[in-house]
Amino acid sequence: MTTNWQELDQTYIMPTVQRLPIAIEKAENNYLYDTAGNRYLDLFTGLAVNILGHAHPRLMKALEEQGHRFLHISNIFLNPPAIRLALRLVKHTFGKGKVYFGGSGAEATEAAIKLIHKWARREQNGKEGIVVLKNSFHGRTLGALRLTRQPGVYQDYPQPAFPVYEVEMNNIAELREVCRQNRPAAILVEPILGAGGVVSLSESFLRAIDDLCAEEEMLFCVDEIQTGMGRTGTLFAYQQFDLTPDVILFAKGIGGGLPLGGIIAGERAADVFKPGDHGTTFAPSPLSAAMGNAVLDVLLEEGGLEQGKQRADYLWRRLEALKEKYPHLITGMDGRGMMIGIRTSLSAENVIRLQKELLTDGILVNVTAKTVIRLLPPLTLKREETDFFIQALEKRMLQIAD
Ligand SMILES: *Cc1c(COP(=O)(O)O)cnc(C)c1O
Repeated sequence: MTTNWQELDQTYIMPTVQRLPIAIEKAENNYLYDTAGNRYLDLFTGLAVNILGHAHPRLMKALEEQGHRFLHISNIFLNPPAIRLALRLVKHTFGKGKVYFGGSGAEATEAAIKLIHKWARREQNGKEGIVVLKNSFHGRTLGALRLTRQPGVYQDYPQPAFPVYEVEMNNIAELREVCRQNRPAAILVEPILGAGGVVSLSESFLRAIDDLCAEEEMLFCVDEIQTGMGRTGTLFAYQQFDLTPDVILFAKGIGGGLPLGGIIAGERAADVFKPGDHGTTFAPSPLSAAMGNAVLDVLLEEGGLEQGKQRADYLWRRLEALKEKYPHLITGMDGRGMMIGIRTSLSAENVIRLQKELLTDGILVNVTAKTVIRLLPPLTLKREETDFFIQALEKRMLQIAD
């Protein structure tokens, strides 16, 4: 008798997520394999985590090597893999600065919240609170949830008391007014809203944040948890603009599939935390850090970033052509590199149907903000895999639209 994984899941695991009824048996390269013997081209990558696909040989080697050295040592010891990773993250961002490691994206946001408060206290500048964007997503722990401005996500939970100001994205006048009136300590934004439906901030808005933070003595924090680690074509998305943030939040792709997150602070905020200010038992995980170093090896030293960019360009070209062919079906596209939101004229119901039909074709895509088809493909996506996806997407959209 085969195991009914769906029934067992429903009996023993809290249903905090609407799961697909697919039990995964293994994953390799750009494919997932289920227990029923089906194969799926993975254009979701565990929600922007498996940036180099699955079982990448370079990552497997790091896993094996570090796994045999030590798995956990606690944060009271010097941790060579983590130190090396921090050094490289600083080198490839601010040049000068320091890293705090946690185990997830929400923990990166929590660390940023505490850092911002401690910084304002140190500076004695009378500033308090954080400006965030309407519809933003910064995590689901209570502190992070305070900054996540999606009503469906936060509505049932207590809101910690620190001030948070919600502004409309790309509205420079409102942003200026809110900062002038309230004297917040920081602005935190995703360069491209992920869970908010893959929506890019305008360059002028990002520049305005940068200017405002310099003028008004605030910390400019970018949440690169989804956009980072080469997904949008540079190591971090902000690097494609002329911006000087003070704090970068990272997670998702960095651990090569293992839990790892944290923040990088530039000179203004690098020395805010003192012993005892923050921490967690598991971070930095030496194993996750070793994986992080392997991810950086592939991206920065073995051409992975550049290759990913070319592969993303090809995927965009094919999608643009499809949009030109069916302007009544594909109404818009947003994002950058391997982070793409496709807007269609299909109803929410039909978008879910499209996702299901694509699954039967052996392709996994994500749907976010109810109607946006979100693609978060691996940087290793091959041309023929893109062709296979585009063909299936065209066929299924035409069927459903009929
Ligand atoms: C996923 C995500 C988070 C939260 O990360 P978790 O690891 O799920 O806690 C925060 N910010 C952004 C932009 C994200 O995409």
